[in-house]
Amino acid sequence: MKPLSTGQFPGVHRRRVGDVTVTALADGYVDLSWEHLPGASADDFSPALSSPFTVGETYRSSINAYLVDIGGQRVLIDTGGAQSAYASLGNLESTLAAIGVDPDSIDVILMTHLHADHAGGAFDAEGRPVFANARMMMRAEEYVHYHDDAEVTDANRASVTLARRAVAAYGGKVTTFDTDGEILPGIASVFLPGHTPGHTGYRIESGDDELLIWGDIVHVPPVQFANPSLGVAFDADRALAEKTRRMILEDAAMHNLKIAGMHLPFPGFGSVERAGKGYRFASASYEYTPDG
Ligand SMILES: [Zn+2]
Repeated sequence: MKPLSTGQFPGVHRRRVGDVTVTALADGYVDLSWEHLPGASADDFSPALSSPFTVGETYRSSINAYLVDIGGQRVLIDTGGAQSAYASLGNLESTLAAIGVDPDSIDVILMTHLHADHAGGAFDAEGRPVFANARMMMRAEEYVHYHDDAEVTDANRASVTLARRAVAAYGGKVTTFDTDGEILPGIASVFLPGHTPGHTGYRIESGDDELLIWGDIVHVPPVQFANPSLGVAFDADRALAEKTRRMILEDAAMHNLKIAGMHLPFPGFGSVERAGKGYRFASASYEYTPDG
């Protein structure tokens, strides 16, 4: 008998939000250790390693993107990290191919922010747009930050270069917004600054239903839900990121919001519950019949 394949199938999970289909797409993962959480001790990090499925001393953090069919448009929220330095990223294109979505059919790319694991799938090795017919939208503060030469340091030069290449690939089709509210039919921007200057979530609204795709509020969920004071080394403004994290965690818990996140365990759908002095992530159950 032929042995079963041990490989993985492309990571795809669809949910309904009102009349809208939201498709979670697994781009890959990064392995994070306690040293990625400034101020955390190995002890603080232990909840991230307590699962019997954990291998080694790192937490495997998902990198997700979301495809939203809404208002007659095909909207991709973030693009994964194909051109980033991480070899464990870059599955978005093959995942889209597996579900029959032609990259040329994407109308709009919404960026939560321009870090490599979010913008690195927007362009190819030659700097051409992966989504040839799409326009790209982001918060104005994000665009400005990554195009201000005064902000470039030796430490962030590679990150800025990648962000600029992602944006440049879309040339004159890049637009920015600077207020919260509806930016496309059925999609509202929610400014969540701190992780980067223009870091933004997107609220999908359909009928009475809504879903907040919150970008990078947490990177190591088992640690940061319980202890929201801990940020990540990639935060541009750690204090502001913490303030934003606390605000949105409390808002999500108080209103029992439907949440999705780029670094929540794939497919990243769930909600926030209060637990002790902090919170915990409650994964949504698997959605078997998104068309039902
Ligand atoms: Zn990220």
